[in-house]
Amino acid sequence: AAPAPRQASGGAGVPGVRHIIAVASGKGGVGKSTTAANLALAFRAQGLRVGLMDADVYGPSVPTLFGLHEKPEVEGKMMKPLEAHGLKIMSIGFLVEAGTAMIWRGPMVMSALTQMLTEVSWGELDVLVVDMPPGTGDAQLTMAQRVKLSGAVIVSTPQDLALADARRGVAMFERVDVPILGIVENMSYYCCPNCGHRAELFGHGGARAEAERMKTPFLGEIPLSLEIRTTSDAGAPIVAKDPGSEHSKAYGRIAAAV
Ligand code: ADP
Repeated sequence: AAPAPRQASGGAGVPGVRHIIAVASGKGGVGKSTTAANLALAFRAQGLRVGLMDADVYGPSVPTLFGLHEKPEVEGKMMKPLEAHGLKIMSIGFLVEAGTAMIWRGPMVMSALTQMLTEVSWGELDVLVVDMPPGTGDAQLTMAQRVKLSGAVIVSTPQDLALADARRGVAMFERVDVPILGIVENMSYYCCPNCGHRAELFGHGGARAEAERMKTPFLGEIPLSLEIRTTSDAGAPIVAKDPGSEHSKAYGRIAAAV
């Protein structure tokens, strides 16, 4: 018998948006949102017109990352994205009360995502970065199918456990013919700011090795760093706050490699 046809990512695009890039992870807490925000800012620093859409219904972090807590204005049937650091930003967190979204089931997730794509006046964008909900369940799969994605960036820590989840993420996107743009190793190592000692808390290099094994590009590594955490918590991710820093350059290299 002929093999079953692969389900293509034949989903809807967004008028005026050239590329939609998903930033995904197999599990939560690996730094997917931090990476998505800094990657979007790094694209912006390259001169691109960039949007950031926070679809992480289980814990939207973009409002905190950008210090945005107001509700978007509505014009007719369209919502206006908020703006910060040159990015157009929409978050599921602007639309629901804190804590309510995490109990959503797949279909509700899907309709919220569709709304953020089609009922937001994104305008002309070169790239829309989508901070996906963590995991590789039905909601994520449906999303990957219904939205016309140019590709996916997978974020993982070097730990075996996170990597196993990342592998599932790669497999999920491959199943729906979304190109994997590559893997980022976050929390790759830690350098003591006082003595310079380098500690590999979660191991190191696991994501690079895994990327090679899966024949997927390795996009780069980001260390565990106090500045990355504090700038994010203070509402201006490091690429916006301190564009000249080593970490910001690392995000810039990742953006260039995508
Ligand atoms: P996810 O989106 O995968 O759940 P987040 O991006 O929200 O993960 O990150 C989880 C926590 O880890 C946040 O408090 C964030 O500031 C912190 N974090 C993420 N990446 C780094 C990093 N490279 N260095 C330091 N803290 C980080």
